[in-house]
Amino acid sequence: MVNFLIFGPPGSGKGTQSVKLAEKFNLLHLSTGDMLRAEIAAGTELGKKMSSIMSKGELVPDEVVIEMIAYKIDHSKGIAGFLFDGFPRTVAQTIALEKMLNDRKMKIDNMLVLDVDHDELVKRLVARAELSGRPDDKDPAVIENRIDVYKSKTEPIIAYCREKGIYQPVKGMGTIDDIFERLCGFMEKFV
Ligand code: ADP
Repeated sequence: MVNFLIFGPPGSGKGTQSVKLAEKFNLLHLSTGDMLRAEIAAGTELGKKMSSIMSKGELVPDEVVIEMIAYKIDHSKGIAGFLFDGFPRTVAQTIALEKMLNDRKMKIDNMLVLDVDHDELVKRLVARAELSGRPDDKDPAVIENRIDVYKSKTEPIIAYCREKGIYQPVKGMGTIDDIFERLCGFMEKFV
């Protein structure tokens, strides 16, 4: 099994690229954002509790996403590995993920970090709001808050992983296909 984190601020293209990468390398794409939105759409108790946190652009509690990921790791078969998208988002989630994987004789093999300019991020999120109907994309103040939360709570994971020798910056500007080719180039070294 080979496991990757795809990492970057909101609007950096993680979701778009993950779908393509998962298909090419037979990885299971695990997006905690998608899982949480599915809970909301299904009207579950958990979804109801999380929706107000998400619509403000804040992070849901670590335990919630850790539990969702643990379940998926234990109920997946026939794949070459996992591609984690939007998880981990805090250093505590990173430590929990490492432990989950280590307990199952796996590890995080590499972290691919998409670098995108701030103005381009905002532009993409505003454009996405038109198509996705996501409430957290509609309000510019919520977009800015998500970027701030990324900087304060999520970005410290980069230093943590870098120290462990798992850090690969990738230029996230250009066309979807150009970025995909760059990501494939780095992933091919591991699979
Ligand atoms: P984005 O497209 O902004 O990167 P996602 O679709 O990954 O966002 O997630 C949307 C929202 O879901 C986040 O703003 C947050 O409220 C919640 N969320 C998703 N993943 C996590 C996580 N790992 N930890 C905490 N909250 C999360």
